[in-house]
Amino acid sequence: MSEGYPVATEDGSKALPSAAHVGQRVSIRSHDPEGGFRDLLGHLVSPTQVRKKNGQIVTFDPSQIALWKVVPSQAISTGIFLYDTMSRAQREIVISDGKALRMYCCGPTVYRDAHVGNLRTFLLGDLISRLVQVSGFSIHSVQNITDVGHMVDDLHEPGEADSEEDKVLTQAAMEHKDPFTLARSYEAKFHKDIARLGILGFDIYPRASESIELMFALIQKLIDSGYAYVGEDTSVYFSANSFESYGALSGNKLEELVPGHRYEYVGDGAKRFHADWALWKAAGARTEMVWESPWGKGFPGWHIECSAMSLHYLQNHVDLHLGGIDLRFPHHENERAQSNAATLSEVTDHWVHGEHLLFEGRKMSKSAGNVLLLEDLVQGGYDPLALRLVFMENRYRSQMDLNWEQIAAAHSTLQRWRSKYQEWSKSELHNDQAIVAELIESIFEPLRADLDTPKALLKLRAIERDANISDRTKAQVFESVDKFFGLDINRVEVARELPTGAEELLTAREQARKARDFARSDQLRDQLLELKIKVVDSPAGQSWEVIP
Ligand SMILES: [Zn+2]
Repeated sequence: MSEGYPVATEDGSKALPSAAHVGQRVSIRSHDPEGGFRDLLGHLVSPTQVRKKNGQIVTFDPSQIALWKVVPSQAISTGIFLYDTMSRAQREIVISDGKALRMYCCGPTVYRDAHVGNLRTFLLGDLISRLVQVSGFSIHSVQNITDVGHMVDDLHEPGEADSEEDKVLTQAAMEHKDPFTLARSYEAKFHKDIARLGILGFDIYPRASESIELMFALIQKLIDSGYAYVGEDTSVYFSANSFESYGALSGNKLEELVPGHRYEYVGDGAKRFHADWALWKAAGARTEMVWESPWGKGFPGWHIECSAMSLHYLQNHVDLHLGGIDLRFPHHENERAQSNAATLSEVTDHWVHGEHLLFEGRKMSKSAGNVLLLEDLVQGGYDPLALRLVFMENRYRSQMDLNWEQIAAAHSTLQRWRSKYQEWSKSELHNDQAIVAELIESIFEPLRADLDTPKALLKLRAIERDANISDRTKAQVFESVDKFFGLDINRVEVARELPTGAEELLTAREQARKARDFARSDQLRDQLLELKIKVVDSPAGQSWEVIP
């Protein structure tokens, strides 16, 4: 045992157990007076003192220790720092097994298209993954596909009416499809969307429906160890009170989670405590997407699937766990409780959360009617990588307000960079490799400091404009950093030449639309079609493409 909780001493106080002895490298997580946690990493020089990397000796109070761990000597420091929601500070990403960074990202629920806000979170996984790999490290990454039904309160979104109906089943009924057929079709769309956004993809995408046995084993383990119980309704619940540090991730306190809170599933009266949650739900009247289980027919709760999959596919430890900020509570809080209780260790080293995305000033929701899909951009004639660029112009940890003007601007920036890259590459001039390396480093430095993509892109723009930097150097820098940015800088844009007369027709059509003369504008669109020019309208204006 090289990690766990502190042990009680004879006088009733707490201490590190003998397994953590002087000389070892340890990580100690202590309660701080403000209700959060503080992490201390270094070598133990006495039972109450740690020597940090910079030589500083820090004394800690053993009675305040929440968890301790001997950090294996094979652990690799990556030099990449990211904000950790748990300790509320920037911390270095560490590859704990010395081989590959174990990363888990909560994936899509496949009953509808992922909107661009979901894609922003998925892009964050790609940016971290690329940064780790470009820095010379390996990564082993997992993202789950939620393809089983869940109660609406699990997936609740503001503005949507409270209801106990299941979203997957509801959507399947609406589309007259078998729920699994529906899930597979949206799963395929998810993969298509992330590929168009230049996301290289995770190593494995396990499906919840194919991980039911893993969930059974984990739930049984939690029942056996007293963390979970079978309710009178034959649902299985996790006992929130049984897990000492519940709330540490989100800052929520059990006593404040009063019944009637929006996360509370009010339908089950078999819970012993209001903040307990279902690991397994009895089928009740439901007939689709139900499984036979040791506790009767039913279906899994949402939170348990991520614990089951991350523990199984990443060998009981997650170096970095990712998700949107809305998942911090209750999803990640509950996942942490389940995983830690099952392994008696702090399973996740680093919690990274991406912020919300607004579209034209408002949160995207079906009820507000402003859900933007990647397909909408493509239909509008934009390169999907323009969205990738817009996202990177904003820090992942800031709330961002997306609009069409930004997308149009990023689209033209991409085209400019690609054509300049082709020009620069033609230059025969000799270039100085030391300068190239220095410029590349000036871009990666802010990226390693909590993924400051806006700052890195500012540097890139400055390099583009700098007359003192040779064309050949610019080409080499752009090509090299594109391994991170993923903007297809070396793509040769197909020349878009307008046939004679088309330019005038396009101008006339734009004027007709401005004058709201739609009959005239439609007539001009048909004339353009005869010239093999397809016109596409979007809120950002008119764009066109040549029909092959
Ligand atoms: Zn999850």
